[in-house]
Amino acid sequence: MTATASAAHGRRAPGSSGFDMLIVGAGFAGLYMLHRARGMGLSARVIEVASDVGGTWWWNRYPGARCDIESLQYSYSWDEDLQQEWTWTERFATQPEILSYIRHVAERHDLRRDITFETRVDAAEWDEDAARWSVTLSSGEQVGARNLVLATGCLSAARVPDLPGRDSFRGATYHTGDWPHEGVDFAGKTVAVIGAGSSGIQAIPEIARQAAHLTVFQRTPNFSVPARNQPLDDNYVHGWKSRYPELRRQAREETRSGTIYDFPERGALEASAEEREREYRWRWEKGGANFMHAFNDLVISEEANATAAAFVRDRIREIVKDPATAAALCPSSYPIFTKRICVDDNYYATYNRPNVTLVNLRETPLDAIEPGGVRTSAGLHEVDAIVYATGFDAMTGAITSIDIRGKGGRTIPEKWKDGPRAYLGLMLEGFPNLFAVTGPGSPSVLSNMVVSIEQHVDLISRIVEEARARGAAAVEADRAAEDAWVAHVNEVAAATLLPKAASWYMGANIPGKPRVFMPYLGVSTYREACEAAVADGWRGFRFADRAAASADARAAARA
Ligand code: FAD
Ligand code: NAP
Repeated sequence: MTATASAAHGRRAPGSSGFDMLIVGAGFAGLYMLHRARGMGLSARVIEVASDVGGTWWWNRYPGARCDIESLQYSYSWDEDLQQEWTWTERFATQPEILSYIRHVAERHDLRRDITFETRVDAAEWDEDAARWSVTLSSGEQVGARNLVLATGCLSAARVPDLPGRDSFRGATYHTGDWPHEGVDFAGKTVAVIGAGSSGIQAIPEIARQAAHLTVFQRTPNFSVPARNQPLDDNYVHGWKSRYPELRRQAREETRSGTIYDFPERGALEASAEEREREYRWRWEKGGANFMHAFNDLVISEEANATAAAFVRDRIREIVKDPATAAALCPSSYPIFTKRICVDDNYYATYNRPNVTLVNLRETPLDAIEPGGVRTSAGLHEVDAIVYATGFDAMTGAITSIDIRGKGGRTIPEKWKDGPRAYLGLMLEGFPNLFAVTGPGSPSVLSNMVVSIEQHVDLISRIVEEARARGAAAVEADRAAEDAWVAHVNEVAAATLLPKAASWYMGANIPGKPRVFMPYLGVSTYREACEAAVADGWRGFRFADRAAASADARAAARA
């Protein structure tokens, strides 16, 4: 390493000019980033508002919460011993099991000593002269950081809609994404669940088992497929563990979603009606999101898509005994797979229970929350508790809630007023040395997120290494490259049916949020695009020249 480079990136004690890397968030992303930063010899610190590690799996403790990608795949690949030693007990792990896995990783790699808990990052300002971020914490502390990594999560800004009278309710209220740690006992209670997305669909069967009565308030029905969750058998686990490195490589390099499924060989319209039925049927019986991969044209052809949607609607009508309830549960206003497919455990059958009622808000709209319950146009539904399963300000909410000011004092909401933009979904022009793990414009929520997180963290590490090798104090996305990437993300989405649903992928669940399709479809193609940019002399990245690195020396002298 050159003298200049070492001045720019060598270990410094915090409190002088700060850290080489400040990481916001201690979920899957923040923990791996910390591990990599340490490995590069950087001084690094994680700031986490929660009181422990886990991110999503720390917050979302609602009954029924579990992953919808098989546990053997929804896990880190970077620690070979860990993936051999860790025992997943179920096909789809429960929230407590995933949380204990993440805690185990933190202990195994002694990560907690570099994490500050119960502290929020409130603001960050780019200091052009010093070429570093000045970060303000909720504790009032100011911390300097050469690099700022937003490992803040795509689904971490829980959202309770601004319903009239919301705060007048005299019973207990909960949000699935901010669930009490001591748990909730619904026994003998009348309960309302508002929302029927993935969280609602997982929680509803569990709450129905406990509550005296459960009323589900549904605005738009979702498509859901059965999980067919089961304990993992030893042979299946052995099959994975004996080939883990190769299977992980395949997931990263050869799949659209970062997950290995039974991949399709042909389009739905190339198959006869009987063949389609057979294909859908065995996947439905096997369970899980594997169903989505029955044919290779399901997200590009409306006609093909309609065959899968019809199959699921037939299953709903078969399971749910009351025809009016079944009809209300059948989605018809958007193509299947254009909203995140839900994976459930006994969801539709729950509506056959005598203690469960479905209120179709399309027929009787929700007028207000009142002290006694939920009022729709048909009258008051009196309840003891309300569970909001109303989702998140996805992909951008956690980022824009931090007051981040880049070059010239420009804020991210200003930059993103027409929709989020980031080069490779990772770096923002005008915001040097700022990285968004699984940011908008990257595969993120359209993928096995652990796979996408690992790829982003590895890429960030390479960018920081490259800056160090060049003696560059700063690296920034190029505007033209950012424009081209945003156009490409839109072009890829526009070639599919994905933008056809008013989904949270489009920002449609947040009033006033620009309607832009945010994630990038294609894990393997995305990886290729990143590698091509690196191979092409770091196309799209502007590294400050060596002279700028002397800013670091000046800053150190001032401190
Ligand atoms: P998170 O786990 O969200 O962690 C971000 C952390 O940043 C949080 O702990 C938050 O408190 C912290 N933070 C945010 N802002 C600040 C701030 N300003 N200051 C300090 N701290 C801050 N994905 C899949 O691929 N498969 C699944 O099966 C799956 N299931 C899911 C189930 C649920 C219920 C939910 C909500 C999401 C699920 N996801 C799933 C997506 C999931 O979010 C990711 O898989 C993954 O856990 C994200 O990890 P992360 O570290 O990027 O973000
Ligand atoms: P979501 O998919 O956004 O669903 C929110 C639900 O709340 C929708 O049914 C929505 O109805 C409803 N809603 C929102 N505002 C409302 C209002 N004002 N009045 C009435 N209803 C309202 O949120 P989520 O279920 O929390 O899931 C978010 C994402 O997290 C998932 O898509 C998935 O990526 C991830 N997740 C995964 C799992 C898993 O299985 N592993 C579990 C949970 C979450 P409309 O559709 O009409 O807006």
